[in-house]
Amino acid sequence: MIYLDHAATAPVPTEVADAVREALVTQYGNPGSQYPVGREARSLVARCRATVADALGCRAEQLVFTSCGTESDNFAVRLAAWQGRHGGRHIVTTAVEHSAVLEPCRQLEQEGWTVTYLKPDRSGNITAAQVAEALRPDTALVSVMLVNNETGCVFPIREIADALKAAGSAALLHTDAVQGFLKVPFRADTLGADLISVSGHKLGAPKGVGALYLGERVRNPRPLLAGGGQEDGRRSGTEATAQLAGFAKAVELRRANLGAALAHMAEVRAYALERLLAIEGVERVGSGAAPHIFAVSLVGYPSANVIEDLGAQGICISAGSACHRGRTSHVYEAMNLPKKVKAGVLRVSIGPETRKSDIDALAAALKNHRDSRFPML
Ligand code: PLP
Repeated sequence: MIYLDHAATAPVPTEVADAVREALVTQYGNPGSQYPVGREARSLVARCRATVADALGCRAEQLVFTSCGTESDNFAVRLAAWQGRHGGRHIVTTAVEHSAVLEPCRQLEQEGWTVTYLKPDRSGNITAAQVAEALRPDTALVSVMLVNNETGCVFPIREIADALKAAGSAALLHTDAVQGFLKVPFRADTLGADLISVSGHKLGAPKGVGALYLGERVRNPRPLLAGGGQEDGRRSGTEATAQLAGFAKAVELRRANLGAALAHMAEVRAYALERLLAIEGVERVGSGAAPHIFAVSLVGYPSANVIEDLGAQGICISAGSACHRGRTSHVYEAMNLPKKVKAGVLRVSIGPETRKSDIDALAAALKNHRDSRFPML
């Protein structure tokens, strides 16, 4: 199999699976329990928090573990809205965020909030100037992702933080860094965002674990999940020790080799763009600079057919976020692409283990598809 859909989820290394098994079988206590196996589980959670916090560039107590990137995003939007509710009821976000940000924003609209959805340009980019222009005195939250999951566009979070400061805005700045963590290097303590969402399974951890960074300007976050008061009262629910052990191990593995892995991915991505764009009928979509995600279009050839055809040959790519399950993505809609370009969009996302020969196979299969099928009229 040739796996070119790392933005959907990443393969789980054996070391990660071993760490998960170890936590399940030998460190099975409840971290809240007062006897040795409980204490052992508690110290496991503390070690995992220290590992992930160190990789994010923050203090351990600034990190809340969650069940996934989606929960982190929902938590961020809700807590910023709660914190800012007396100052105003306006949010600035982009039309190309993941649904995990867009849907809680839509819920808030139903509760009387106003949301400004910034549109990207044709290449998928959003500027800090656009954000600055959209700010209002009553803006409580600005939520802009670090790396778009469909185009690979990297958004200027540091510049946006500076623009908020220059405008004297009290709004909290959230960034969904699910596709950026350990792919586009940043440190939480210098990025300028107050809230940063990450997810384990994009890095080789098991599905079902994520984290939210809470910066200094976040005060008494109102939990999304209220209950037994775990995570310092910020997120109740018995800690998912096995997932956390896998998350920490995956982070450790990625970090150990980060410079070489990123350089390798950037080289494979450059090779892929050269090979794919040399195929007649293939066009670039967006101008994403991330080392691991880019989009192209086999113009006029419906992507659902291409994906099925390639899948049957063991090549896994997608038309965009796995969450869309075949529906046209709101990201490509927002970019206002011509109809035939949009119809043929394909997202390629690579990982440290992707080889140039995987790209050769993809290029050959795409050519073959183009030559053996009729395009849409
Ligand atoms: N945000 C972005 C940018 C994503 O790409 C994803 C997953 O595809 C998520 C959030 C949701 O993360 P999770 O699958 O961990 O809920």
